[in-house]
This record gives sequence, C-alpha cells and structure tokens, in this order.
Amino acid sequence: MTHLLEVHGLKTYFKTEEGLVPSVNGVSFTVERGETLAIVGESGSGKSVTSMSIMGLVSSPGKIVGGKITFEGQDLLKLSAKEMRKLRGNDISIIFQEPMTSLNPVFTIGNQIGEVYRKHQGLSKQQAQVKSIEMLEKVGIANAIKIVHSFPHQLSGGMRQRVMIAMALACRPKLLIADEPTTALDVTIQAQILDLIETLSKEENTGVILITHDLGVVAEMADRVAVMYAGEIVEEASVYELFEHPGHPYTIGLLGSLPNMNEQRERLDSIPGSVPNMLSMPEGCPFHPRCAYADQECTVSKPQLVERTAGHAVSCLKAEEVRK
Ligand code: SF4
Ligand code: MG
Repeated sequence: MTHLLEVHGLKTYFKTEEGLVPSVNGVSFTVERGETLAIVGESGSGKSVTSMSIMGLVSSPGKIVGGKITFEGQDLLKLSAKEMRKLRGNDISIIFQEPMTSLNPVFTIGNQIGEVYRKHQGLSKQQAQVKSIEMLEKVGIANAIKIVHSFPHQLSGGMRQRVMIAMALACRPKLLIADEPTTALDVTIQAQILDLIETLSKEENTGVILITHDLGVVAEMADRVAVMYAGEIVEEASVYELFEHPGHPYTIGLLGSLPNMNEQRERLDSIPGSVPNMLSMPEGCPFHPRCAYADQECTVSKPQLVERTAGHAVSCLKAEEVRK
C-alpha cells in the first residue's frame, strides 16, 4: 500500500537580501494512516517550513526548490493552486500555533466551522450549524449552542484553539498537521487538546504530523520521531527507540536536558550554542560547533542520514562511538 504521505528530498529555500537561505534542506520522511510522526527541533530548524511546504502554503520569498511530496500517491507539487486548495479543505488540515491569527474576527464561530461543512460536504446552512455544534461538543466545548454565536475575541485562548481544532477536523482530514498546537496554552488545556487530537486521530485513522519542541508531548503522542537540525533530519526512530537509544549527539543533548518528562518544557534551549546561521552554515557536520563528540573529521565531512538498526536512522560520523 502506498504511504499516506511521502516527502522525499524536500528543499525549501528563502530569498533574502544576503542570499538564499536553505530553510529545509533535503528532508525525507513518510507518514502512514493512523500514525503520529513528531518532528522536533529548535525554532529555526525548519519544522514549520516543512509543514507549510506540505500544505502548499510557502509563498515568496520562500520557494520549494527540490524534492517531491506525494499524498496518497498524488504528486502535490504538480497540483494547481485550485486543486491544492481543495485538498487542503478536504484531505489535509493544519492547526496553527496562533488561533487568533487564523480565525476570522468578523464571523461567528458557527459561521466559520459551518463554512467547512457547507463548502466541503455541501450541507445546508442549518445542517452545517447542527454539525458545527456537534463538532464543538466533540472538542470538549460544553455550551456549544451558545458558542456558535460568539465571535473569536469573546473566547479564551484555549477555547479558540479548540475551535481551530474543530475546524481542522470538520472536514475529516486524512492528514492532520499540528504545528505547536498547544504552545500558547496553559498546561491543563494543553493536555486536553493533545488527548483530543490523539483520540480523534485513532478513531478516524488520521495520519498526524505533530510539530513541537516539547519532548514531553512527543513521548506522550508520537509513534515515530524525526529530529530536525538546521534544515535537515539528523535522527529518525520509533518514539521508544529514540528515548531509549538516542543515536545523535543533538538528540542526546535534548534528552539529557530532560530531568523529568512531566516537568520538561522548552528544554531544547538548554544545549549550549544555537542553531547556525543558515546563510553561513559551518563546513562538515552542521552540528559540530555545539557537539561534545566532534573531532577534526566532523569539521570537514558532512554526515548522511543512515539507517543503523531497523527503523532507526542517524546522521553522524561518530554514530558507532556515540552509541557506546
Ligand atoms: Fe557530532 Fe561529528 Fe556526529 Fe556531527 S558528525 S553530530 S559533529 S560527532
Ligand atoms: Mg514553528
């Protein structure tokens, strides 16, 4: 069977005054139906640009300059803007980090969710209203009958995020991309929303790409994990394997800075140094200026992502040594 989603050698670059910035630089992965793939990495590692590339939402000065994105065997990069829009509403949905920027302030909540039903399932206004209320209840909004008549600014951040999720799920997508879906919310609401995504994805056999820098969330939600650094995937493994046997020094750093999974928040920033300036990437391994294992070779040779054990790929010249 074909993969639900296959990204192969994706390159998305941005034109800046100082030159071309490779934001995503040759990224490959797959997502199966019913599976949650977490993409983790610091901000600036290319996670969000990867998701925007899949959604067909990269716009100037950004551009997909290489690679292939296949959804159910269909080459997305060959679709017209119109075809892509249709796919976005029907088969692929995204939940963004900032709900306020994604909801239209001048329409009621019922109107906005209802539009999904009207447009994509051809329901009447009344049918769409009923469906919207049902969906709001599904995402844990108790007084949905009242909420459909509210405007976005009348809701709390947590409520708005639930509305966004309701909208994203209303079209029953086959693929859901959740980009830092809960970062802006308080911890209790975060947990509820993540539960919701998980439940709904299992019920509907939805493939999920979960973009996050929170390893606690990864441990709870993901089946597989891809770790991104400086526009590339540096490690990929099942969630268990990654936490038990991390193979890349960067991943080890991330996990090492994880005293207790439940307490962990935004620990990725505790690795010394920062993501390199993509305009002047270091020679050799992009991670070498921050790597405790680096030696001379790392400053000149660039490692490739290689499968070391079944389903576990690592991009490091010293992978064997690091493992010991
Ligand atoms: Fe560190 Fe070298 Fe491995 Fe890069 S290749 S992660 S610098 S040990
Ligand atoms: Mg982001």
